[in-house]
Amino acid sequence: MHAYQIKENIKLTLKEYDPNDTKLWDSDKKAAKNKLEDLRKQLIDLQRLLYAEHKQKVLIILQAMDSGGKDGTIRSIFKGVNPQGVRVASFKVPTPEESKHDYLWRIHKQTPRSGEIVIFNRSHYEDVLVVRVHQLIADTVWKKRYEQIRHFEKLLADEGTTIIKFFLHISKDEQKERFLERIDIPEKQWKFNPRDIEERKLWGNYMQAYEDAISKTSTSYAPWYVIPANRNWYRDYVITKIITDVLKKKNMTYPNPVEDLEKYRTALD
Ligand code: AMP
Ligand code: MG
Repeated sequence: MHAYQIKENIKLTLKEYDPNDTKLWDSDKKAAKNKLEDLRKQLIDLQRLLYAEHKQKVLIILQAMDSGGKDGTIRSIFKGVNPQGVRVASFKVPTPEESKHDYLWRIHKQTPRSGEIVIFNRSHYEDVLVVRVHQLIADTVWKKRYEQIRHFEKLLADEGTTIIKFFLHISKDEQKERFLERIDIPEKQWKFNPRDIEERKLWGNYMQAYEDAISKTSTSYAPWYVIPANRNWYRDYVITKIITDVLKKKNMTYPNPVEDLEKYRTALD
């Protein structure tokens, strides 16, 4: 099992996970960036194969606190891959239409089809995180959702979807640094949202909600990985490595060419 994968049926304590950890890389940052380039090339090849084979469906779920690095991770994973076979689905505050349905309605519609990799920027986990922390619905309602989510993800897995879930784990101090950058650096100012300051005050409640959500929904068919994410280079390296390793195990092959392919050579003038 991967060092950062959360075992089924354990009680996760995030304090035991160091957001600065770099234990899976024993050399310097520059060497890690070179290694990442190498992994990216592998990912590009694997995604091309996945798209051509048109059998696998891959769902990558990203959750994090504000400024946790979801956008940066998406940029990093997507760099160079064929945009035809990949898609990002971002989940915001539900629209009035979405609110009229059950919480998985908008989620299910965005799940990957054959040959596709979909990255969820936030997900149905918001429905046991923000909804719980802000008491948007009764406890009795969100408490049932862990089981519903396990069943939903089992359905997707049984029908051929590979699910990988990442929690990008940053420290509260690191978040402060990142918010200050959003105030100081003109190109980042657009990202600053005063609401994030209010959310930051609820850090402890969010950590508790994440611990429960991850503990109760990390399964063999849809595992959670808690990724040390204070250092972007390490986060990108670890995540890209996990994704390429999962895809390599799929033993994908290119579809067979048409019969008698050679005979068409002579038909070309
Ligand atoms: P961002 O990802 O920074 O664009 O922010 C999206 C916002 O939508 C976050 O504050 C999320 O907590 C919020 N959000 C996403 N899903 C839900 C949901 N199901 N219920 C309430 N708020 C949500
Ligand atoms: Mg935000």
